[in-house]
Amino acid sequence: MRIDVLTLFPEMFESPLSASILKRAQEAGIVDIHLTDIRSFSKDKHNKVDDRPYGGGPGMVMMCRPIFDSFEHVEKLALEKPHTILLTPQGQPFNQKKAIELSKEKRLILISGRYEGFDERIRIGLGAEQISIGDYVLSGGELAAMVVIDAAVRLLAGALGDEDSSKDDSFSEGLLEYPHYTRPEVFRDMKVPDVLLSGHHAEIEKYRRDQALKRTKQNRPDLLRDNPPEDQ
Ligand code: SAM
Repeated sequence: MRIDVLTLFPEMFESPLSASILKRAQEAGIVDIHLTDIRSFSKDKHNKVDDRPYGGGPGMVMMCRPIFDSFEHVEKLALEKPHTILLTPQGQPFNQKKAIELSKEKRLILISGRYEGFDERIRIGLGAEQISIGDYVLSGGELAAMVVIDAAVRLLAGALGDEDSSKDDSFSEGLLEYPHYTRPEVFRDMKVPDVLLSGHHAEIEKYRRDQALKRTKQNRPDLLRDNPPEDQ
């Protein structure tokens, strides 16, 4: 997969992209991530990329020209047609289903906003999918882009050490994941449930399924309402 990110702050991506799974996935050639500074496409002598809003009001708005120019430049850098995403709190909520969908794309272009957001003609003209990572407002789209990249890349074949480890993850089957334990068997009087030490695979599977359901009922009953499990 190739991912291009258009941003005013490419340096914000350095640390998350150079550690752990994202680092290994790039080194293994599973994903190729490119950062493009929108400001380098400004035609203005002061490198301006934002301007005051028509109609007045607070803040500045990201101008069309540098974003269209940077997008059209980056689009030509690879043959595959990109799936383009505009990060905005006004987009569809990001979730695991969307991460799975995006992980099947050959190529993504993510556009991070700043200031009061994008000139509306960027949304209209690029026809990008709009994605929000939650009902709150961030200072910029960079953290949102990193969330989308991380969630999608860890699903690519070979990105995780163990291929199976994303299968039971929360949301994959519409449920939160069951609780995990590791050594020691007893820690501050809290004991690992006997069933996990029993070696009975069927019983362990049943325990985990029951725990996943219980936890989902407690913490996220909306998941069960929206997507009732087949065995319930
Ligand atoms: N004035 C805009 C509004 O109320 O919709 C918010 C602009 S926000 C300060 C600046 C940029 O941060 C946005 O253009 C977007 O790229 C990014 N952003 C902020 N919150 C986000 C969220 N929840 N999900 C995705 N991107 C977000």
